[in-house]
Amino acid sequence: MNTPNHSPVGILAVQGDFELHAKMLERIGAPWTLVKHASDLEDVGGLIMPGGESTTMLKFFAQEGIGPAIAEFAEQGKPVFGTCAGAILLAKEVLKPPQESLGLLDVGIERNAYGRQIDSSVRRGDCPELADYPVQMVFIRAPIIRRVGDGVRVLGRSDGLPVLVEQGNILAATFHPELTEDETIHRYFLKKVSH
Ligand code: GLN
Repeated sequence: MNTPNHSPVGILAVQGDFELHAKMLERIGAPWTLVKHASDLEDVGGLIMPGGESTTMLKFFAQEGIGPAIAEFAEQGKPVFGTCAGAILLAKEVLKPPQESLGLLDVGIERNAYGRQIDSSVRRGDCPELADYPVQMVFIRAPIIRRVGDGVRVLGRSDGLPVLVEQGNILAATFHPELTEDETIHRYFLKKVSH
């Protein structure tokens, strides 16, 4: 669909833990750049939307026109990877409470769904197409994907729940792959970017 591209991967840097994604890409040796304004998207081949607070990020989206620019970017077939809050922003449906989102990924996702008492946890999950061992996954005030649309592939599960999903050029994780040493998930996304 896209011509092979060597443009850097953009990391949305309006709020959240974008720096750790940059560190991960640095370690892998993949070029990256921070995306702070809608116009920054013109120069990137893919986009990572980090974890943080989806409500705060939405405020920036409204102010800066970043939301519509990301939607347009994704509609052109360019790869977008949302982690945690990023996944919430990509979802078609945000539950409990309902919240605005970009609607680019056909899932229903519930925010802070592991309960207030579990602020964060480290679990293991299976991503059979990506790794032949249980992948370490860090969840921080994580959402749970409650509904998976027909066109969405589940690439990873933990405790029976979908935690890594893909719909065409859109990839989303409810955990934080940038918080472990394991490069698998980022490498998988980078393959999508270079195709
Ligand atoms: N609880 C946050 C939200 O609802 C997501 C947490 C995270 O990104 N680690 O946006």
